Amino acid sequence: MVGNLNNSGLYKSDEKEQRNINTPLRSDAFNLNEEEKMKKIEASFKDIMDVLGLDLKDDSLQDTPKRVAKMFVKEIFSGLNPANKPSVSVFANTYGYKDMLIEKDILVQSSCEHHFLPFFGKAHVAYIPNDNVIGLSKINRIVDYYCRRPQVQERLTLQIAQELKQVLGTEDVAVYIESKHMCVAMRGIKDDQQFY
Ligand SMILES: [Zn+2]
Repeated sequence: MVGNLNNSGLYKSDEKEQRNINTPLRSDAFNLNEEEKMKKIEASFKDIMDVLGLDLKDDSLQDTPKRVAKMFVKEIFSGLNPANKPSVSVFANTYGYKDMLIEKDILVQSSCEHHFLPFFGKAHVAYIPNDNVIGLSKINRIVDYYCRRPQVQERLTLQIAQELKQVLGTEDVAVYIESKHMCVAMRGIKDDQQFY
């Protein structure tokens, strides 16, 4: 549980810590446009399949490099690009509501940056409103945006919490994620738990 993050010791909002929760992107990350990126990824993935000895002339395999490239750029890693960040509007907390608001069971589908395999599960978000409240579907969109990049679960949790703090103008935000990591489940490491 990442409670009030500033009190937890996990996250302090000084500059160094700030950098640590950002996804490590180079400054030239968006010099290539999406089409150019897909072309390069397609060629690179073709090489990987080729090295594995797969017959790229096979009907079932021949379009795989193109499919993977499109999936990376347009879908599962589209959240790397700040241009795809959802615009989130908030509403004035007109009733002066001061109790904790909770949204549970938000779908998490992301990719482990160490193995490029999926991890998936649920996020639970709680906050105590200050001047503003947020529509529930907007929380889902924020979670989805940060899921769509190579991630580690800890950073994903912190990025969602930070975004909500900024949007809501309060430090009283908690984010908890439970997920199953396919890189653990698929690689023969004993993993009896559904989630961890
Ligand atoms: Zn992994």
